[in-house]
Amino acid sequence: MHTHPENDPHYAGLAVNEGVETQPTVNPYLQNRAKRRDFTAAEYAEHILKGNITVLSQAVTLIESQKPEHHALAQEVIEKCLPSSGKSVRIGITGVPGAGKSTSIDVFGMHLLKNCGRKLAVLAIDPSSERSKGSILGDKTRMEDLSREPDAFIRPSPSAGSLGGVARKTRETIILCEAAGFDTVFVETVGVGQSETAVHSMVDFFLLIQLAGTGDELQGIKRGIMEMADGIIVNKADGENIDKANLAAAQYRNALHLFPLPLSGWSPKVLTYSGYYNIGIKEIWDMVDEYITFVRANGYFEVRRNAQAKYWMYESINEQLRNHFYQSPEIEKALQIKEKQVLDSELSSFAAAQQMLDLYFQGNFAKTVCNSNIIRTFATEI
Ligand code: GDP
Repeated sequence: MHTHPENDPHYAGLAVNEGVETQPTVNPYLQNRAKRRDFTAAEYAEHILKGNITVLSQAVTLIESQKPEHHALAQEVIEKCLPSSGKSVRIGITGVPGAGKSTSIDVFGMHLLKNCGRKLAVLAIDPSSERSKGSILGDKTRMEDLSREPDAFIRPSPSAGSLGGVARKTRETIILCEAAGFDTVFVETVGVGQSETAVHSMVDFFLLIQLAGTGDELQGIKRGIMEMADGIIVNKADGENIDKANLAAAQYRNALHLFPLPLSGWSPKVLTYSGYYNIGIKEIWDMVDEYITFVRANGYFEVRRNAQAKYWMYESINEQLRNHFYQSPEIEKALQIKEKQVLDSELSSFAAAQQMLDLYFQGNFAKTVCNSNIIRTFATEI
């Protein structure tokens, strides 16, 4: 018995051919990828330690996630990776937009990969990304050559949260990258605000990219940033710009002489180069190597890392306390009332702050343990 006339052997109408099999709605490759997210912390760590970049990326996504359940898992993964971390050379790279950071990082990275046999992770801290809802720094499309290299891992800045939160995530990502076998880590940032301090507090060498401008270079430099730099490199020393770059370098050298010798005992060097034309790149990395050898020998390398570990412990405590305070709905409600009272001159700012803190500490809010994992993580890092 045939349900359709077409299937009757005597049917003389149009034949029905076998159709094309329906394609699955989800790409099976992606389905597999999605499944892999259900790793336990131990599995994450195991894959990361084997150098599995896909799992490393997924773990970094966990670190960046806002979901509390991801947060706890991420902390466990970090703790498991900690013993295998700390072995890379961490370099902070800053410069104003247009200074040539992405061009330079691409060239520096290729030099380190091809001529020095290094494995490089490029991370970023971009304070503007929260507003723009997308980060530019550390973007693969800006580092064309490097992004095609299997020995390079490029990750844009985490985009959500306060600068402190973003910086903490980047610092945690460094730990995972090191556990995955990356022996060099770049942390990129824009030289326009507070973010340099955050980057400086997580790197071994701080590199400032400068431009030879119109002769008034020194006016535009924030003294604080220059003081933080272990090396200043003047980019775009090519073509007609060479003389200007040399002049700018001389001015920076003079300016540096006015600063006291840093704790490291290392006098910051000033070099010129061209990222675009690949000139002077080796000299920059010779300088970084020289610095690392110097501070390893005089003990400052450890001193700086220990100070950073301590700094991040306190930063993490501060961040957790702040978040816990502001995320409480009761506090949020009371804050609105206090804010109005302050604006209406019914209450001084200080009295209002005190009342808010009293409310917080006398209420039950402070008793809930927020997440002691983070604090433990950094305390055990040294
Ligand atoms: P970023 O904003 O700091 O990342 O800067 P980019 O790397 O995007 O560079 C800004 C502009 O400067 C681009 O148009 C580059 O092509 C150019 N640039 C970068 N490095 C050099 C260089 O060494 N010489 C010259 N002449 N131009 C460069």
